[in-house]
Amino acid sequence: MAIAIYPGSFDPVTRGHLDIIHRAARIYDHLIVAVLINSAKSPLFTIEERVALLTECCRDIPNVTVESFDGLTVDFARKRHATVMVRGLRAVTDFENEIQLAQTNYALMPGIETVFLATNIRWSYLSSTVVKEAARYGSDISKFVTPNVEQAVRAKFSAAPSGQP
Ligand code: ADP
Repeated sequence: MAIAIYPGSFDPVTRGHLDIIHRAARIYDHLIVAVLINSAKSPLFTIEERVALLTECCRDIPNVTVESFDGLTVDFARKRHATVMVRGLRAVTDFENEIQLAQTNYALMPGIETVFLATNIRWSYLSSTVVKEAARYGSDISKFVTPNVEQAVRAKFSAAPSGQP
Protein backbone atom coordinates (compact mmCIF):
# COMPACT_ATOMS: atom_id res chain seq x y z
CA MET A 1 0.00 0.00 0.00
CA ALA A 2 1.51 3.33 -1.09
CA ILE A 3 0.99 6.04 1.51
CA ALA A 4 1.86 9.64 0.65
CA ILE A 5 1.80 12.79 2.68
CA TYR A 6 1.13 16.29 1.36
CA PRO A 7 2.60 18.72 3.88
CA GLY A 8 2.00 22.45 4.08
CA SER A 9 0.67 25.38 6.06
CA PHE A 10 -2.69 25.56 4.24
CA ASP A 11 -3.48 28.98 5.74
CA PRO A 12 -6.06 28.60 4.21
CA VAL A 13 -6.44 25.78 1.69
CA THR A 14 -6.89 27.09 -1.88
CA ARG A 15 -8.24 25.57 -5.08
CA GLY A 16 -4.59 25.09 -6.11
CA HIS A 17 -3.95 22.89 -3.07
CA LEU A 18 -7.16 20.97 -3.77
CA ASP A 19 -6.09 20.30 -7.34
CA ILE A 20 -2.88 18.70 -6.04
CA ILE A 21 -4.84 16.71 -3.42
CA HIS A 22 -7.26 15.29 -6.01
CA ARG A 23 -4.45 14.33 -8.36
CA ALA A 24 -2.23 12.80 -5.65
CA ALA A 25 -5.21 10.83 -4.30
CA ARG A 26 -5.54 9.19 -7.72
CA ILE A 27 -1.90 8.12 -7.67
CA TYR A 28 -1.51 6.82 -4.10
CA ASP A 29 -3.58 4.40 -2.03
CA HIS A 30 -3.78 6.79 0.88
CA LEU A 31 -2.95 10.48 1.03
CA ILE A 32 -2.44 12.23 4.35
CA VAL A 33 -2.72 16.00 4.12
CA ALA A 34 -0.35 17.10 6.88
CA VAL A 35 -0.90 20.57 8.30
CA LEU A 36 2.19 22.04 9.87
CA ILE A 37 1.89 23.60 13.31
CA ASN A 38 4.37 26.35 12.59
CA SER A 39 4.83 28.86 15.34
CA ALA A 40 7.44 30.82 13.34
CA LYS A 41 4.81 32.08 10.88
CA SER A 42 1.83 33.86 12.41
CA PRO A 43 -1.06 32.22 10.62
CA LEU A 44 -4.50 33.75 10.03
CA PHE A 45 -6.19 30.47 10.99
CA THR A 46 -5.47 28.31 14.02
CA ILE A 47 -4.28 24.79 13.42
CA GLU A 48 -7.74 23.45 14.37
CA GLU A 49 -9.43 25.80 11.88
CA ARG A 50 -7.03 24.86 9.07
CA VAL A 51 -7.57 21.14 9.69
CA ALA A 52 -11.37 21.60 9.88
CA LEU A 53 -11.53 23.55 6.60
CA LEU A 54 -9.37 20.98 4.80
CA THR A 55 -11.38 18.09 6.24
CA GLU A 56 -14.59 19.65 4.91
CA CYS A 57 -13.00 20.21 1.49
CA CYS A 58 -11.75 16.60 1.29
CA ARG A 59 -14.75 14.78 2.75
CA ASP A 60 -15.76 13.32 -0.65
CA ILE A 61 -12.33 11.82 -1.35
CA PRO A 62 -12.35 8.48 0.50
CA ASN A 63 -8.59 7.87 0.57
CA VAL A 64 -7.63 11.28 1.95
CA THR A 65 -7.25 12.11 5.64
CA VAL A 66 -6.15 15.36 7.25
CA GLU A 67 -3.90 15.65 10.30
CA SER A 68 -1.77 18.27 11.98
CA PHE A 69 1.83 17.71 12.94
CA ASP A 70 4.71 19.43 14.65
CA GLY A 71 8.45 18.93 14.14
CA LEU A 72 10.22 17.51 11.12
CA THR A 73 8.01 16.49 8.19
CA VAL A 74 10.15 13.39 7.53
CA ASP A 75 9.61 12.21 11.11
CA PHE A 76 5.87 12.57 10.72
CA ALA A 77 6.00 10.76 7.36
CA ARG A 78 7.97 7.88 8.90
CA LYS A 79 5.53 7.57 11.82
CA ARG A 80 2.68 7.24 9.33
CA HIS A 81 4.64 4.73 7.17
CA ALA A 82 4.51 7.12 4.21
CA THR A 83 7.12 6.61 1.51
CA VAL A 84 6.31 9.68 -0.56
CA MET A 85 6.04 13.38 0.13
CA VAL A 86 4.02 15.29 -2.46
CA ARG A 87 4.71 18.94 -3.21
CA GLY A 88 3.21 21.27 -5.79
CA LEU A 89 5.46 23.29 -8.09
CA ARG A 90 3.88 26.47 -9.35
CA ALA A 91 6.69 28.24 -11.15
CA VAL A 92 10.44 28.49 -11.31
CA THR A 93 10.30 30.74 -8.24
CA ASP A 94 9.17 27.73 -6.15
CA PHE A 95 12.00 25.58 -7.49
CA GLU A 96 14.97 26.87 -5.50
CA ASN A 97 13.31 26.46 -2.15
CA GLU A 98 11.63 23.16 -3.03
CA ILE A 99 14.76 21.47 -4.38
CA GLN A 100 16.67 22.43 -1.22
CA LEU A 101 13.87 21.10 0.96
CA ALA A 102 13.66 17.85 -1.03
CA GLN A 103 17.43 17.32 -0.90
CA THR A 104 17.53 18.06 2.83
CA ASN A 105 14.68 15.65 3.49
CA TYR A 106 16.37 12.97 1.39
CA ALA A 107 19.59 13.41 3.37
CA LEU A 108 17.63 13.11 6.62
CA MET A 109 15.48 10.16 5.56
CA PRO A 110 16.49 8.42 2.29
CA GLY A 111 13.48 6.06 2.46
CA ILE A 112 11.09 8.91 1.73
CA GLU A 113 10.95 10.35 -1.79
CA THR A 114 9.69 13.82 -2.65
CA VAL A 115 7.45 13.85 -5.70
CA PHE A 116 6.55 17.12 -7.43
CA LEU A 117 3.29 17.65 -9.24
CA ALA A 118 3.28 20.52 -11.70
CA THR A 119 0.52 22.94 -10.83
CA ASN A 120 -2.42 23.20 -13.15
CA ILE A 121 -1.71 26.41 -15.07
CA ARG A 122 -5.10 27.67 -13.94
CA TRP A 123 -3.76 28.00 -10.38
CA SER A 124 -0.11 28.82 -10.98
CA TYR A 125 -0.42 32.35 -9.57
CA LEU A 126 -2.45 31.28 -6.57
CA SER A 127 -1.22 31.13 -2.98
CA SER A 128 -2.79 31.40 0.48
CA THR A 129 -1.12 34.83 0.72
CA VAL A 130 -2.89 36.02 -2.44
CA VAL A 131 -6.22 34.91 -0.95
CA LYS A 132 -5.59 36.77 2.31
CA GLU A 133 -4.43 39.95 0.58
CA ALA A 134 -7.43 39.98 -1.75
CA ALA A 135 -9.84 39.41 1.14
CA ARG A 136 -8.19 42.09 3.26
CA TYR A 137 -9.13 44.68 0.65
CA GLY A 138 -12.61 43.31 0.04
CA SER A 139 -12.04 41.53 -3.31
CA ASP A 140 -14.05 38.54 -4.45
CA ILE A 141 -12.11 35.39 -3.50
CA SER A 142 -14.69 32.84 -4.68
CA LYS A 143 -12.58 31.76 -7.63
CA PHE A 144 -9.59 31.04 -5.37
CA VAL A 145 -11.21 29.03 -2.58
CA THR A 146 -14.25 26.85 -1.86
CA PRO A 147 -17.38 28.45 -0.31
CA ASN A 148 -16.64 27.20 3.25
CA VAL A 149 -13.15 28.73 3.10
CA GLU A 150 -14.47 31.95 1.58
CA GLN A 151 -16.91 32.29 4.45
CA ALA A 152 -14.22 31.59 7.06
CA VAL A 153 -11.80 34.12 5.52
CA ARG A 154 -14.53 36.77 5.33
CA ALA A 155 -15.41 36.16 8.98
CA LYS A 156 -11.77 36.75 9.99
CA PHE A 157 -11.58 40.06 8.19
CA SER A 158 -15.02 41.32 9.15
CA ALA A 159 -14.34 40.61 12.84
CA ALA A 160 -11.77 43.39 13.05
CA PRO A 161 -11.81 46.98 11.81
CA SER A 162 -9.72 48.32 8.90
CA GLY A 163 -8.93 44.99 7.27
CA GLN A 164 -6.94 43.62 10.20
CA PRO A 165 -7.64 39.98 11.09
P1 ADP B 1 4.25 25.85 2.68
O1 ADP B 1 4.16 26.85 3.78
O2 ADP B 1 4.87 24.54 3.05
O3 ADP B 1 4.77 26.39 1.37
P2 ADP B 1 1.67 25.95 1.51
O4 ADP B 1 0.39 25.69 2.21
O5 ADP B 1 1.92 27.32 1.02
O6 ADP B 1 2.76 25.44 2.48
O7 ADP B 1 1.83 24.93 0.28
C1 ADP B 1 1.86 23.55 0.46
C2 ADP B 1 2.23 22.90 -0.85
O8 ADP B 1 1.27 23.23 -1.84
C3 ADP B 1 3.57 23.37 -1.44
O9 ADP B 1 4.16 22.27 -2.10
C4 ADP B 1 3.18 24.41 -2.43
O10 ADP B 1 4.12 24.54 -3.47
C5 ADP B 1 1.87 23.83 -2.95
N1 ADP B 1 0.99 24.85 -3.49
C6 ADP B 1 0.70 26.05 -2.97
N2 ADP B 1 -0.14 26.74 -3.77
C7 ADP B 1 -0.38 25.95 -4.85
C8 ADP B 1 -1.13 26.11 -6.05
N3 ADP B 1 -1.77 27.23 -6.34
N4 ADP B 1 -1.16 25.07 -6.91
C9 ADP B 1 -0.49 23.95 -6.62
N5 ADP B 1 0.28 23.75 -5.55
C10 ADP B 1 0.33 24.74 -4.65
